[in-house]
Amino acid sequence: MCLFCDIIEGKIPSNKVYEDDKVLCFRDINPVAPTHVLVVPKKHYDDILDISKAEDGAEYLGAVANGISKVAEADNLGNGFRVINNCGEDGGQTVKHVHFHVIGGVKLTEKMI
Ligand code: 5GP
Ligand code: ZN
Repeated sequence: MCLFCDIIEGKIPSNKVYEDDKVLCFRDINPVAPTHVLVVPKKHYDDILDISKAEDGAEYLGAVANGISKVAEADNLGNGFRVINNCGEDGGQTVKHVHFHVIGGVKLTEKMI
């Protein structure tokens, strides 16, 4: 069982911002900024290492990049935003389906952590 696979399949509702055949972008349930959207490939990969090794990974990562730009457009993030990928235990990844946080709508600190 994977939470994000269930969201992709519509078994769990989500607040969608953009989707196509390869990517789903939906609002984080616990936002840390006015815009906090999760950009998720529709095919299950555990993390960034997993998707980078997969034969069709580049295709899905391209779809992720396009999804990020659609979110920026939808939420008027022309002044900038941040994309975060948490990977593994030390990276603080809690959902083991690779995803990218798009955070914006506010001036973010220049510090990474
Ligand atoms: P991670 O910590 O793995 O990088 O990010 C997981 C994110 O998923 C967290 O920011 C958390 O708030 C979000 N999240 C967890 N469960 C749900 C859910 O059921 N719906 C939505 N929209 N977001 C969720
Ligand atoms: Zn999954």
